Amino acid sequence: MDDKSKCVYCSSINPKWAKAHVVPRLMGTFENQPTLTKKVCAACDREFGRCEAIIAKCTIEAVLLKHIGIIGRHKDKSPSAFRRGHSGHPPIRMTTAIPSYDSEVRVEPIGDSNNVDLLPQIILIDGHGNCEEIVINDPNCITIGEWSLLVRKCLSGGVKQLEAIVSNGQAILIEQILHQFGITFDCSDDAKISPFQGRVLVKGSMTYDERYFRAVAKIAFHYFLCHSNLFKGSEEEFDAIRRFVRYGEGDAKEFIEKGEIPIVYDPSGADRPPYYGHILRTEISPKGISVFMQLFIGHDYSPRWMRVRLSQKARKIFLQTEEFGHYYRYLEPDKRSRYDGVIEKMVVAQMVKIPRPSNHTMHRIAYKSGSR
Ligand SMILES: [Zn+2]
Repeated sequence: MDDKSKCVYCSSINPKWAKAHVVPRLMGTFENQPTLTKKVCAACDREFGRCEAIIAKCTIEAVLLKHIGIIGRHKDKSPSAFRRGHSGHPPIRMTTAIPSYDSEVRVEPIGDSNNVDLLPQIILIDGHGNCEEIVINDPNCITIGEWSLLVRKCLSGGVKQLEAIVSNGQAILIEQILHQFGITFDCSDDAKISPFQGRVLVKGSMTYDERYFRAVAKIAFHYFLCHSNLFKGSEEEFDAIRRFVRYGEGDAKEFIEKGEIPIVYDPSGADRPPYYGHILRTEISPKGISVFMQLFIGHDYSPRWMRVRLSQKARKIFLQTEEFGHYYRYLEPDKRSRYDGVIEKMVVAQMVKIPRPSNHTMHRIAYKSGSR
């Protein structure tokens, strides 16, 4: 059987083919983006879509997508990833402190800007100062479900203080409704806290799971196959990476390494691109083939690099033609028309040496927002 008629992942013969991208559609469109044709079947591609949703909805990349104003395939009307969880993960928790308030408040980035917006919310504070928020969908209208959650939490005891960031009418209603259930709070302060003045420091926490790393590995593998002069993807040396990407077999640590120091590195930040983009490049060594990537590098964000090991086959010959690098550059919003970005080839001089890896994981980020 000729390899040409088989899916490289599941080996189905003459399947319904998918046009497999390098950078997922959820992360925007790039002019002249190469795709893999007749290599990935529709069923495998659908599975990758489920993994890619983690990147686009649950992680720091989701924050950055919102920040630079990239909208996925459909105009998504569902609550943002900062309000509601996706794919079994809780919402991305982004918070900031408000002067003179005890608790941190939940915020979300405003698309295509450096600003954040307060989420309508009710913060329940216990006697030890621990906070729990109920995020409200519409500040002018608390829903039955939200009311019932609020009343249940208050009745279960332990709530000593309550802060509501809702419209004035709803704030009055909260007091009245809770009173009917025998729960009373004294209104101690009623202040307008939006919009923010000056610079605020915003913290965020988000969840990563195996699907995130599979999606990252998929981007790296498809990138390599799209530009490779020698490989088809069905070679035995890629068996382990294919099984990890497709079925989640093996440990993500075997395939993906994360480092502190960026690929493009200048402490002044002068080397960073003026806007945002993804850097991908191959690293060929006698011990195997890897792809280095930095997603969303930009003037104010320098992500850690990730190395995806595609093959660990030892070789005596140097595969010079397999050394290449590209920059998937997002266009600034006013310059986007048909596409969100363009792809530029990196020249050898830009492909600086990769520093030694460290074993950090990333789970918490600091996110600074400008004044509005
Ligand atoms: Zn398949």
